[in-house]
Amino acid sequence: MTGHREEFVDLHIHTVFSDGLFTPEEVVTTASRLGFTAVAITDHDSVDGIDRGKVLGKRLGLEVVPGVEMSCNVNGTDVHILGLFIDYHADAVTEFFARVRQSRLERAERMVNKLSELGVRVSFARVREIAGSGAVGRPHLAQAMVEAGAVVSISEAFERYIGYDAPAYCPKMRLEPGQAIEFIHANKGVAVIAHPGTYGRDDVIYTVIAAGVDGIEVWHPEHNNRTTEHYLEMAEKNRLLVTGGSDCHGGRKFGKVYIGDVRVPYRYLVALKRRVRH
Ligand code: AMP
Ligand code: ZN
Ligand code: FE
Ligand code: FE
Repeated sequence: MTGHREEFVDLHIHTVFSDGLFTPEEVVTTASRLGFTAVAITDHDSVDGIDRGKVLGKRLGLEVVPGVEMSCNVNGTDVHILGLFIDYHADAVTEFFARVRQSRLERAERMVNKLSELGVRVSFARVREIAGSGAVGRPHLAQAMVEAGAVVSISEAFERYIGYDAPAYCPKMRLEPGQAIEFIHANKGVAVIAHPGTYGRDDVIYTVIAAGVDGIEVWHPEHNNRTTEHYLEMAEKNRLLVTGGSDCHGGRKFGKVYIGDVRVPYRYLVALKRRVRH
């Protein structure tokens, strides 16, 4: 994956505007120091970090691709779709994500209540404080649980309480893949199915392909060589674009993935750009 003497990019990175620990400036500084040509800022349900990244990127000579990561529901599975090159200043975009973030807040409160029924006391105010101006998510809740002494680690919080099959889990706002893809397209973005190897089943991937997705994220820290080969082949057969990224959360996510862990040759970004609608 690492091309010699070739420029490389990372097209999936979180910041403090969702559940990442780095500011947009820290992301850009790190990527620039590591020699990246471009990075995409792809927060969950927020485009608020993009401009800050772009300002510093311009000074440091690093291209910042605007992006966002949306969550969809496919037969009960939470499937993520990246919207790269989305028109992040469009009112339709900022207003939509403001709504989604509001529903994330209500969901976080529901999860706090479920935890309380299970005997785990965390303050919703503290969860909000940890999330700050970012889209609130389970990692913030997990951090509050660690602080409260209910669990010793973020992983334990997910395993025992807030993971997909755990007792305090609540689903997010329901969105069909077709709706997310249509929204991304209507706002000039390219839709890419994120980390396909993490859902444990390919029927959901075919559903998203049928819904009109443009690309597949084939390089990802949770993919091994076999998974990557498998999705490269699927992309080729279905004439889809391919992307990749670290999905860096700055150490908040288990596995501790950082910028630099995935390096995607620049030519894949070039191919992606050819697909962007103006
Ligand atoms: P949410 O969007 O609120 O459902 O939270 C999803 C986020 O939680 C993912 O993007 C990851 O950052 C994180 N996450 C999911 N599963 C785990 C896990 N088992 N351990 C730690 N973080 C996780
Ligand atoms: Zn996340
Ligand atoms: Fe994701
Ligand atoms: Fe992500």
